[in-house]
Amino acid sequence: MSLRVYNSLTRRVEPFEPLDEGRVRIYTCGPTVYDRAHIGNFRTFLWEDLLRRYLKWKGYDVTQVMNLTDVDDRTITAAIERAITLDEVTAAPIEWFFEDWDRLGLEPVEHNPRATDHVDGMIELVRRLESAGLTYENEGSVYFPIAKFEDYGRLAGIDPETLGSAGRASGDEEYEKDDPRDFVLWKGGERSGESDVAVWDSPWGRGRPGWHLECSAMAMEYLGETLDIHTGGVDNMFPHHTNEVAQSEGATGKPFARYWLHAAHLLVEGQKMSKSLGNFFTVPDVIDRGHRPSTMRYLMLSGHYRAQLNFTFDGLDAAARSVERLRDFRERVRGAAESEGPRSGDLSDAAARAASAFEAAMDDDLNVSEALAAIFGLVRQGNQLMDAATPAVPDGTDSVLSVFTDFDAVFGVLALRDREGDAVDDDLAAWVEQMIAERRAARAERDFARADEIRNELLARDVVLEDTAEGTRWKIREGVAPATAE
Ligand code: AMP
Ligand code: ZN
Repeated sequence: MSLRVYNSLTRRVEPFEPLDEGRVRIYTCGPTVYDRAHIGNFRTFLWEDLLRRYLKWKGYDVTQVMNLTDVDDRTITAAIERAITLDEVTAAPIEWFFEDWDRLGLEPVEHNPRATDHVDGMIELVRRLESAGLTYENEGSVYFPIAKFEDYGRLAGIDPETLGSAGRASGDEEYEKDDPRDFVLWKGGERSGESDVAVWDSPWGRGRPGWHLECSAMAMEYLGETLDIHTGGVDNMFPHHTNEVAQSEGATGKPFARYWLHAAHLLVEGQKMSKSLGNFFTVPDVIDRGHRPSTMRYLMLSGHYRAQLNFTFDGLDAAARSVERLRDFRERVRGAAESEGPRSGDLSDAAARAASAFEAAMDDDLNVSEALAAIFGLVRQGNQLMDAATPAVPDGTDSVLSVFTDFDAVFGVLALRDREGDAVDDDLAAWVEQMIAERRAARAERDFARADEIRNELLARDVVLEDTAEGTRWKIREGVAPATAE
């Protein structure tokens, strides 16, 4: 069976065939490191991790590059506003980024180049475009004339004729363009303190690279002139990826990326989660409310990447229950595998069916809903067969465990959950203590209705109270994984 993916370039689901057999080169637009990434950003990164893991599981040798955008309008503005250097702005966000990356169980990628370390390659790319007649210069800045690039806009399905000045990239307003639709490759000249913060020498005088140029140059430097897959969020399709295509293909005359894959957004109450709207959560924000990273990982991976996902705390609770159900089942099967008692029934067929349904679903443009349905189908059937066999245990437990190993090589949820362990985390403990104090106060005021309400609220989280002479003690209900505070 082979993988098919939706290619934004052709707007079709196509068989995936890398340029070199057995090897996949992926470029992934990374975070702009001016602040901590939010979980919307991580939705895209998690799906990219799923794609990477699935390709590896299929046997491909994957080389993935994810850049760190450490010089762009946002990092520069932050440096100017705070009167610090660009490195001082980006140091902490880069550290946080890798911290959250690891906490959510993402695999390290092969290369994480920083834009500021690759300015030479960016200048070189502009020079190639210059030789190809695809640039013009104006007051120290260099522009790409989109009218000279025949296919401009194909990726995003945009007709350049209809691109009025409204189509121009924001942040470019102050630049002197011949045509408002053109984009800046190299931002030169002296402007508003920028020159002190981020400036490099170039054949066009001092200046700094434009954002689009950064990704093209780093992608080609690490992966060659034609990539197998380029990924990012849908918001990157225009202008960012559209301009990456124009400047890369304009310079090389070769296709830049053969497959373009884009993830839909994470929403909050129907709106894109974003820094500018202020409706965002970071990974620590969610952990501080008592939720596990493995729960976040599951929630984000359980929706198809091309469908928007609405983030809610109820959704997180449901995700936590799904993870526990998978875990409990795996424990039960492990127990059966270790049992030396009599055998009755066989799980092998159910396991084989789940394995092939899982792969068929993932092959179909990473259809995670179907893939998870296959796994939960196995859980249901496996439990029925084990119930029926009791007190004996069925054969075929190894086949089931190997389906779970394969599933988790791709989803990476159970390994992360195992790593987290069963310790009640500090946030949950603090929340429970606070609820107990409130209950004590309610009882002191003879508000027993409120006291009962609190007890029930705790019980709903599997927290059991025990009133003793020394005060109220609490524990997590037997056989239940710790609940989470909110
Ligand atoms: P940025 O740091 O803004 O350059 O974004 C990094 C990555 O996160 C890009 O691939 C964006 O497309 C993606 N992204 C930004 N906001 C969201 C969101 N709400 N949901 C999913 N992906 C997002
Ligand atoms: Zn990019």
